[in-house]
Amino acid sequence: MDITRIDEAISVTGQVLPKEVQALADAGFRTIICNRPDGEDPGQPDFASVAAAAQACGLEVRHIPVDDAHPIDMQKGDFARAMHDLPGPVLAYCRTGNRSGKIYQASRSIAAQAGKERTMTTEKSHHQIVIAGGGSAGIATAASLLAREPDLDIAIIEPREVHYYQPGWTMVGGGVFPKEATYRPEAVVMPDGVTWLKAEVTGFDPDNKAVLYGDGGKVTYDLLIVALGNRLAWEKIEGLEETLGKNGVTSNYRYDLAPYTWELVHHLDKGRAIFTQPPMPIKCAGAPQKAMYLSCSEWEHRGVLPDIEVEFHNQGAVLFGVADYVPALMQYVERYGANLNFGSNLVRIDGPTRKAWFATDQGEVEREFDMIHVVPPQEGNAVVAASPLANEAGYAEVDQHTLRHTRYPDVFALGDCSSTPNAKTMAAARKQAPVVAVNALNVLEGKEPNVSYDGYGSCPLTVERGKIVLAEFGYGGKLLPSFPSWVIDGTKPSKAAWHLKANVLPSVYWHFMLKGREWLAKPLGMAI
Ligand code: FAD
Repeated sequence: MDITRIDEAISVTGQVLPKEVQALADAGFRTIICNRPDGEDPGQPDFASVAAAAQACGLEVRHIPVDDAHPIDMQKGDFARAMHDLPGPVLAYCRTGNRSGKIYQASRSIAAQAGKERTMTTEKSHHQIVIAGGGSAGIATAASLLAREPDLDIAIIEPREVHYYQPGWTMVGGGVFPKEATYRPEAVVMPDGVTWLKAEVTGFDPDNKAVLYGDGGKVTYDLLIVALGNRLAWEKIEGLEETLGKNGVTSNYRYDLAPYTWELVHHLDKGRAIFTQPPMPIKCAGAPQKAMYLSCSEWEHRGVLPDIEVEFHNQGAVLFGVADYVPALMQYVERYGANLNFGSNLVRIDGPTRKAWFATDQGEVEREFDMIHVVPPQEGNAVVAASPLANEAGYAEVDQHTLRHTRYPDVFALGDCSSTPNAKTMAAARKQAPVVAVNALNVLEGKEPNVSYDGYGSCPLTVERGKIVLAEFGYGGKLLPSFPSWVIDGTKPSKAAWHLKANVLPSVYWHFMLKGREWLAKPLGMAI
């Protein structure tokens, strides 16, 4: 075999045969990455056969095909993540080794760019645009700005090394996605040319156009975009934090816990399963019931559903805030025999004795459980809430259409941290980011905002494995379907909507939304 060593982390080669894998393991390789699509040439061993041989030798494997349909630019993020996650040294192969070498170099350049920018924290104390938060909304907005003006001087302040695709966690809890499919290193999603200040924002001083960060850092701006997300207040449920992840207590609202949801669901054959929903607003208001439906679907599939008593405890008074979707959801509630409890708010839990207590109009109610899926109470981001940017509820106070701050004209906010009364979803952030980009550039040029956000949010309700009720709506509960009803009628469960969520939207997120490619997200004029 003709193997070319690129550096200590990786070597590349042409097509690997299953019978050659043992020798590669003996040579010290610990991971094999295949960059060749299956079926490229007649007689080519497919990835599965190489993977089986590799796994039998204790090697890790990953398939990241590169061809015209999967160009390097689209795949380099996955490659960088594989290099980050998997043990080295790595052997990557394609037909000749050429594509493997190229994708490795491309993946290195993004990580190196982010690494270099990270060191600039002390060098520059002013940026044209400062974005607080490098989650879904922050990265998408930076990408949308740079798509319009590539030379902008943007700094993003974000302490995390990891970027999550949170909508995938419902699928992890339902046993559909592995948890690893829902994150990438932050360095990989950081747009080229952006300065990454790898620190926590500690305060806002909008009167002096300054953001405080890290241990005494301060950066000033011409324009500030706040995208810090909301706060999950786990501690507000007494006894919860110490029992999460054990004693049958789980939540899809945390990356590390979502797999435990599936573990519990997969092993439960009888008993009581409880699903909870705290007071609004929460991110993805449908996620609490999505967890219930996917669990019931699995129990129904295994024939154990009649032996499982399912309870949904919702602090609110309705199953879903937009009435058009409720009939379809109720059909599933009835099909699964789920017992709905409205006005019932989880306040206390004792893991070891498997008991939970709910505040209701009739006083506190005690329920025993075999498993419980808990959605934490949520509130405004703590730094926003403590700043002059906040409204009384602790959210950044912006105009709901322009997303410009109501008191500080050089400040915008979007995503889960903002005061806009839309459903807090990634889909909302996808639509908001281009609006903020256009309006922010106008303000930088001394003009007024001229595009408007219509309140769009989306909630793909996973009513059974393989079908989704795709709720899409804007301000005032107005239905805003993205597709004609003959493609997807959002008020009915459909396989097409499941395909969208399971196979299309993750790619839209990583390759479109976070890259400034505004698919189904073009900003609207100010007609509204
Ligand atoms: P985030 O993506 O949470 O990003 C906030 C960022 O700010 C983070 O990176 C954080 O580290 C950073 N940050 C916080 N504090 C500080 C600080 N002090 N200094 C610096 N940085 C800070 N949406 C959908 O559209 N469809 C779905 O199906 C869906 N399902 C979901 C299921 C679950 C289980 C969950 C949890 C969410 C779901 N969502 C869904 C909601 C969606 O993920 C969020 O609405 C979206 O991620 C919001 O983006 P954001 O940028 O506002 O917040």
